[in-house]
Amino acid sequence: MTLISGPQVAEKVLAECQRDITELKARGVTPGLAVVLVGDDPASRAYVRSKDKKCRDLGLHSVKLELPATTSQAELLEVVAKLNADPAIHGILVQSPPPKHIDEAAIVRAIDPAKDVDGFHPVNVAKLALEDPTGFVPCTPLGCQRLLIEAGIETKGAHAVVIGRSMIVGKPMALLLMAKGPGGDATVTVAHSRTRDLGAITRQADIIIAAIGRPHFLKAEHVKEGAVVIDVGINRVEAPETEKGYKLVGDVAFDEVAPKCRAITPVPGGVGPMTIAMLMANTVKACKQSLP
Ligand code: NAD
Repeated sequence: MTLISGPQVAEKVLAECQRDITELKARGVTPGLAVVLVGDDPASRAYVRSKDKKCRDLGLHSVKLELPATTSQAELLEVVAKLNADPAIHGILVQSPPPKHIDEAAIVRAIDPAKDVDGFHPVNVAKLALEDPTGFVPCTPLGCQRLLIEAGIETKGAHAVVIGRSMIVGKPMALLLMAKGPGGDATVTVAHSRTRDLGAITRQADIIIAAIGRPHFLKAEHVKEGAVVIDVGINRVEAPETEKGYKLVGDVAFDEVAPKCRAITPVPGGVGPMTIAMLMANTVKACKQSLP
């Protein structure tokens, strides 16, 4: 069984970014990412902080806008409009989830698709479906695909089962796996909460992408011998023995599933670090594409 290391592959992606950033800077351009946080959700705050830090580590221009939870839809739209017009900003991300009174879909639609490094704008969703390489693909599924490629997992002709149909992970993952080219050309099945007899489907899978959001959901009985499993899940479970009182676990019951696998990603240490690395890569791409 091979343990696919997220941090190792993320390092490689970040080194590529670093090389591109140096080249861009030599041409007088510094890629810029603006991350907007509305409210004070602690998990979102932590995500925003780590994105800001990663940008600074790489020498990207990073703008972190922390707005109060009382920020109105109109005020947020105004912030987005300013960032759209700012030539020093190539990527814009509004941290999800915003407070309840904010219409998130409208905010996403207001972001210039050329700066939508999260890949959530309808134009980018369409570009992914159309296999248009100028589009931006959501960072988590893009990171999963990169893990498969770097681990030397052949997706061409493989049966890939994606569990989950969210716009952030499941759906774009399925589109990536069925697209033509490296990390694609798979036969894809998408399973979700209404799927009947999930095990009968997942047991046919050469590759399983688990993006369910339930701790240790995927068991050994769901997986055939020799399968490759990518665990997207990040679930907080109580762990009184730890200092924080909780720990993060995946959607896969790792201890029982791993021995059956040809390759598997752990949690933590799997998909997590890839998401932020792909965000950096998307920002560099947005910058390059903005140049004449
Ligand atoms: P979501 O809640 O939007 O979607 C979960 C999906 O799981 C749904 O499409 C649902 O149909 C499916 N599902 C639920 N119960 C099921 C069942 N019993 N059988 C089959 N399918 C079922 O979640 P999401 O945003 O797609 O995230 C999924 C997981 O990935 C979460 O644990 C989340 O924390 C994690 N995540 C991790 C990263 C990362 O950076 N590693 C990024 C995004 C999400």
